[in-house]
Amino acid sequence: MSSVYLHFNTRIGQQKPESIVNKDTECPFCDRQNLKDILAEKGSIILVKNKYPVLQDTFQTVLIETESCAGDLSTYPKEHLYNVLSFGINKWLEMEKSGEYQSVIFFKNHGPKSGGTIFHPHMQIVGLKKINYRDNFKKDYFEGLVISKKNQVELNISTKPRVGFFEFNIILSALTKVEQMADFIQLTVHYVLNNFNKNCDSYNLFFYEFDNRIIAKIIPRFITSPIYIGYSIPQVSNRSAEVVKEFKEIYNL
Ligand SMILES: [Zn+2]
Repeated sequence: MSSVYLHFNTRIGQQKPESIVNKDTECPFCDRQNLKDILAEKGSIILVKNKYPVLQDTFQTVLIETESCAGDLSTYPKEHLYNVLSFGINKWLEMEKSGEYQSVIFFKNHGPKSGGTIFHPHMQIVGLKKINYRDNFKKDYFEGLVISKKNQVELNISTKPRVGFFEFNIILSALTKVEQMADFIQLTVHYVLNNFNKNCDSYNLFFYEFDNRIIAKIIPRFITSPIYIGYSIPQVSNRSAEVVKEFKEIYNL
């Protein structure tokens, strides 16, 4: 039986530095000399054990994407972009295959409304000992209006989003096409931060694995709708078709 709740240790949570809101806090990921518990490295990319394991019955790791606080998936040169995503996906799948967890989640928070606490570009890979995230989703969440399809990788905008209003999905059927997935992730993040809505400074990127497919979901973040918070009713925008058209035009898709 899977558990439903993740238990959060508030005492550990209170010790965490919050560089995303407090710019004076020293960045723990820039201080590379003092990084402890390094699990793997590739060039400037480092996977470490999370120093603040706030989630009980989990194994929390942090994938530090670059040496400096500056930069984001939307601006990385292609080679670095491909390295970050293929390294992350490989480490995530390795943890899944270890059989030690009911499931492993892989995600990224960016910006003040994303729920993240540390500004430095990073992602998280977390092994869940008692929860299978697949119990909480429907395949419908990844269906949508197609923006582009290249090298067997699909980029769409959800017609049945998990939360709403806009959710972008990138669906990969063959692991050999990770670079195409990375290109679509970069375009989507760039679109979200620069062209989608002038007030958008935050997004989440989530990865899911099921049915021999890997899916990335990018959700631009704003204040969450009360209708979702109170009633779990997701909302979908009537602007979706217009967003598809705009996205295609800007990036020649
Ligand atoms: Zn930093």
